[in-house]
Amino acid sequence: MAWDFETDPDFQKELDWVETFIKTEVAPLDHILGSPYDVKDAQRNKLVRPLQHKVRERRLWACHLGPELGGQGYGQVKLALLNEIIGRSVYGPTVFGCQAPDSGNAEILAHYGTAAQKKAYLAPLLDNEIVSCFAMTEPQGGADPGVFTAKATRLGDEWRIDGEKWFASNARYAAFFIVMVVTDAAAPLAARTSMFIVPAGAPGLSIVRNVGYGDHDDSHAYLRFENVRVPADAMLGKEGGGFLVAQVRLGGGRIHHAMRTIAMARACFDAMCERVLSRRTQGQLLSDKQMVQEKIADSWVEIEQFRLLVLRTAWLIDKHNDYKIVLKDIAAVKAAMPKVLHDVAGRALHLHGSIGLSREMPFAQQVIDSYFLGLADGPTEVHKITVAKQVLRSYQPTNALFPSYHLPAVREHAREHHARELSAGDT
Ligand SMILES: Cc1cc2nc3c(=O)[nH]c(=O)nc-3n(C[C@H](O)[C@H](O)[C@H](O)COP(=O)(O)OP(=O)(O)OC[C@H]3O[C@@H](n4cnc5c(N)ncnc54)[C@H](O)[C@@H]3O)c2cc1C
Repeated sequence: MAWDFETDPDFQKELDWVETFIKTEVAPLDHILGSPYDVKDAQRNKLVRPLQHKVRERRLWACHLGPELGGQGYGQVKLALLNEIIGRSVYGPTVFGCQAPDSGNAEILAHYGTAAQKKAYLAPLLDNEIVSCFAMTEPQGGADPGVFTAKATRLGDEWRIDGEKWFASNARYAAFFIVMVVTDAAAPLAARTSMFIVPAGAPGLSIVRNVGYGDHDDSHAYLRFENVRVPADAMLGKEGGGFLVAQVRLGGGRIHHAMRTIAMARACFDAMCERVLSRRTQGQLLSDKQMVQEKIADSWVEIEQFRLLVLRTAWLIDKHNDYKIVLKDIAAVKAAMPKVLHDVAGRALHLHGSIGLSREMPFAQQVIDSYFLGLADGPTEVHKITVAKQVLRSYQPTNALFPSYHLPAVREHAREHHARELSAGDT
């Protein structure tokens, strides 16, 4: 009997250490430092580097990766248990060496990179000496790769890249860009694009402007590529393989965001519980009001349901070690994720009253972040379509006039099946 919801005691000790470490050492950085991605910020490095060192000593660095890449090879279930604590702090992922988008970029560099690409980009990326940017979305659309027009043209030993990319996170801090561009406009969708590695500062590459949302700094770039030249060996993966590389990258990224979303939703939930047990109205605690109790109950149920879905999906990834087999489950997690954070953060905001809406509380930002989770790595609708298509594959249509579960037929079948017993009477 293999079902088990217990964390093994040795790993639980690590999780307990992480919980205290995040609370006392890491979360305070969120309130005194700028972007975790600004690796040139001396103040950031002074405070972050010693904490990263402690994490390495504790053997908890880059847990999303296998030991061959300097990670721990713990697998996705343990990573989920870690991320649901680490995700409470903006700085948490950086201190533990598993921050997006670098984590996903490292995965594809490890998977598809040549020895030279790994040496130049993967090694310093894994050490957080540099950070990276993934540029796929374009101003005219992100959900549909069929509308991408940024292109690369082969010119002898070089490729020439032209076009625009949109909402490319952390471009301003990145040492290099992984860019998805069209290399064969006439090819089918899965073979139209290729990935290239473009170093920051490449002539012709510019940030048109940095775009922000909510309270976050403006770190999502509108990029322009004008006659950017890269050598032929700057291609990541095969020519025409851009779509495949993107799928590998986004599969992991989506579930890692989901693990951290549990942390964010739980933080909102904890705040909500403290508040309703502390605030009185009409001579009663808020927690005595049934409509308040409903909000607590709904939030707890939704977080627990979501957590189980995430952990089960993590377990499936460990079991199959192939994102393609777990496509439906990852899409389901991705589709469920924004709603959980949106609803729980929204209730936390509402139950706190005016201060809940104010900038003195994090809830309004968390509600906005729930929309980020519903867009980044693909909109919710697209993932629901994937879930539905995959689920329907295991069903068959009927050619009969009535459904196979039509009760008169079901009853008739039952009678036939037990005809002998029924005809024998009560003897
Ligand atoms: C905070 C943040 C960070 C991001 N970081 C990056 C990054 O680093 N690199 C990068 O390349 N991109 C990044 N993105 C972009 C993200 O991938 C896109 O926003 C996303 O793919 C949607 O593309 P779009 O914004 O062009 O919306 P559109 O493609 O225009 O979609 C808009 C809306 O149309 C609807 N829709 C779209 N397709 C369908 C469909 N098939 N069926 C039904 N309805 C549909 C949905 O409601 C969708 O939200 C980031 C986005 C955000 C918000």
